[in-house]
Amino acid sequence: MSVLNEVYEKVKQRDPNQPEFLQAVQEVLESLEPTVAKHPEFVKAGIYERIVEPDRALQFRVPWVDDKGNVQINRGFRVQFNNAIGPYKGGLRFHPSVNLGVIKFLGFEQIFKNSLTSLPMGGGKGGSDFDPKGKSDGEVMRFCQSFMRELFRHIGQFTDVPAGDIGVGGREIGYMYGYYKKIVNEHDGVLTGKALEYGGSLVRPEATGYGAVYFAAEMLATRNLDHKGKIVAVSGAGNVAQYTVEKATQLGGKVISLCDSDGTIIDEKGIDAEKLKFILELKNVRRGRIKEYADKYGAQYFPGKSIWDVIKEQGVKVDIAYPSATQNEINEAHAQALVQNGCVCVSEGANMPSTPEAVEVFINNKILFGPGKAANAGGVATSGLEMSQNSLRLSWTREEVDQRLHGIMKNIHKSCIDASEAYGMPGNYVAGANIAGFIKVAKAMTAYGIV
Ligand code: NDP
Repeated sequence: MSVLNEVYEKVKQRDPNQPEFLQAVQEVLESLEPTVAKHPEFVKAGIYERIVEPDRALQFRVPWVDDKGNVQINRGFRVQFNNAIGPYKGGLRFHPSVNLGVIKFLGFEQIFKNSLTSLPMGGGKGGSDFDPKGKSDGEVMRFCQSFMRELFRHIGQFTDVPAGDIGVGGREIGYMYGYYKKIVNEHDGVLTGKALEYGGSLVRPEATGYGAVYFAAEMLATRNLDHKGKIVAVSGAGNVAQYTVEKATQLGGKVISLCDSDGTIIDEKGIDAEKLKFILELKNVRRGRIKEYADKYGAQYFPGKSIWDVIKEQGVKVDIAYPSATQNEINEAHAQALVQNGCVCVSEGANMPSTPEAVEVFINNKILFGPGKAANAGGVATSGLEMSQNSLRLSWTREEVDQRLHGIMKNIHKSCIDASEAYGMPGNYVAGANIAGFIKVAKAMTAYGIV
């Protein structure tokens, strides 16, 4: 059995009930195979065994009182996975599907993603099984305050710097940062994704979506292609999806879809700037459902279906796909349908939205496939830029931040290409991203000795 198989088998034995974590570990270890022969020092130092085990995993009770006066109890998590190259960094997810395995998968992916950005950030992730949907602002505030009442003792600007993710946007960051500031009595920028008025960065809300489109543009350019006149499918309707729509449209693409957990809309006329404004108000202010878009603009609505179901069942033509909702949304059959319907490029705005079988379909069919840890790294990269601005105590202009983000995405693309070539898998962005992200962290871990 190879060294990496042994590592995987051990993880499987220890964490048989964490399928998402096992999936992420398997994918990474598979692509690290060529590093074993080239770096015997990593094997000797036990790097592969160590990197799959978090530095620490915290779980805590989050009690809060709802609007009816009832006591509610949720579970909070923070997994501080690896701080070899910088303070732990990664978002907080509030969604009923959150459990320790989901947070470990996200924290593990974050190690390599953060390394790829070339900024000094380690990997971490956290969250809760709290569902903000349908809750009043008061309930969300009381939950966030209770969550922070425990989390504050584990984080710090040089220790661990959380941010947003599914279910955690500007409102939640505001409540959590406000409470942290009150109990710690320091305004040290410990969360990113803050509003401009209290230390946020311009372009942070846009960064993940813009970054995914910049990454796709780099991939397309390797085949002399671009977004102009292309039909674009985007899933989700949240932060990542919204700004993916904006940038893909600015570059000349026609975005025809969005979804939420209730259903999918297909608008063959395209989602233009005016319609996007409606989505932002619908989702970020009124917190309504995507069906309202179909009612207002006469678009098709498919209740209970994902975009990928609709593309498969209706034979919708798509050139570029941006899965931007959640993990494992694209399965093998969806991937085959995308290939058959003419898709040439998939750039993952979400984390691990394609199952391993779907990834295989994309790679076997020579689709330009940008895995999440590379394609959606623009979000955390701009969080890194927010940390830099907080430390410098100044703010860069929109153009300056956007230019840096664009430069970082181009560099990530180049690192993936270079690593995929150096390790014998040219053009394979999955292998390239995993290897390039891993090498830097592994070298730092080796330098520290056994800690
Ligand atoms: P949001 O909460 O802003 O939006 C998520 C969107 O996806 C919502 O429209 C939600 O619909 C939909 N969605 C979530 N789960 C499901 C599901 N099971 N089925 C169908 N639709 C679903 O989250 P973000 O946009 O921030 O995050 C989206 C993805 O991008 C996640 O994978 C996240 O980890 C990843 N990501 C986010 C970054 C960021 O900066 N925000 C950075 C890097 C990656 P509904 O409202 O009905 O639940």
